[in-house]
Amino acid sequence: MTKEKAVFLDRDGVVNELVYFHERGIIDSPFVPDQFRLCPGVPQAIRKLQNGGCKVIIVSNQPGIAKGHITPANFKKISEKMKALLKKDGISLDGEYYCLHHPEAVVKQYRLDCECRKPKPGLILKAAAECNIDVSASWFIGDNLTDIKAAQNAGCHNILLGKMRCEMCDLMYNQGIKPEVIKTNLLTAADFIIKGA
Ligand SMILES: [Zn+2]
Repeated sequence: MTKEKAVFLDRDGVVNELVYFHERGIIDSPFVPDQFRLCPGVPQAIRKLQNGGCKVIIVSNQPGIAKGHITPANFKKISEKMKALLKKDGISLDGEYYCLHHPEAVVKQYRLDCECRKPKPGLILKAAAECNIDVSASWFIGDNLTDIKAAQNAGCHNILLGKMRCEMCDLMYNQGIKPEVIKTNLLTAADFIIKGA
């Protein structure tokens, strides 16, 4: 069977907006379904990729349960909300893969130095094997250095979402991480993959 091409997406900051927690002054993933909002243009971007022959698969580190920030029930509800919001536009994802581990997890069950937490390539490779994907023909779109590093480690193309910030340049240079392409949002990234590839 011929392998297919995929676009792997990080979740927080790519598919949905990050949440600013005023009381603690930090930006993090949504902890409850009410905090989950899609980024602008996401359903259109996913439709464009799927119509262009790509499977669209979420590959995301989600240590919130491990850290005690999110209950397993809310984690599930957040995923259901994401799928319901996409479904309003007639979109279904081709897969969702999450690493729930963290080496310093407060919840013992998830305390693990695993092979699936990005920047390790394990979760991308698992998704690729299970969904019959040709990794070398596929793309990873993320908003973090760990995403770009995971893509490089897995051997797929990558797009960094966001603006290149100087402090990020130094960090990337020191770690040998080089984004192939930088785009401001998922829709412009999808355009680049479909028209440019
Ligand atoms: Zn893991």
